[in-house]
Amino acid sequence: MRVYCRECGSKGRITKTNRLSRDYTELYCQCNDAECGHTWVASFGYRHSLSPSAKTTSQMAFHLARALPPGAQQDLLRELEGAR
Ligand SMILES: [Zn+2]
Repeated sequence: MRVYCRECGSKGRITKTNRLSRDYTELYCQCNDAECGHTWVASFGYRHSLSPSAKTTSQMAFHLARALPPGAQQDLLRELEGAR
């Protein structure tokens, strides 16, 4: 990830990250230009998904199927076999 100093436009570097939650991280940054010396905090965060995680959807399906009564689980298996 590339960061730029807002004061002089030079490249900066991330010196420390502080993950405040699963979706939000603070980035402590420092300007690479020694004559500038600007340091700042930027943020990096999750906004929204473009397509769902395959891990999430299969895990969700597994837990839903497991919550079904045994008879309904067999019906679901038969339906899935029939759908192939
Ligand atoms: Zn700078």
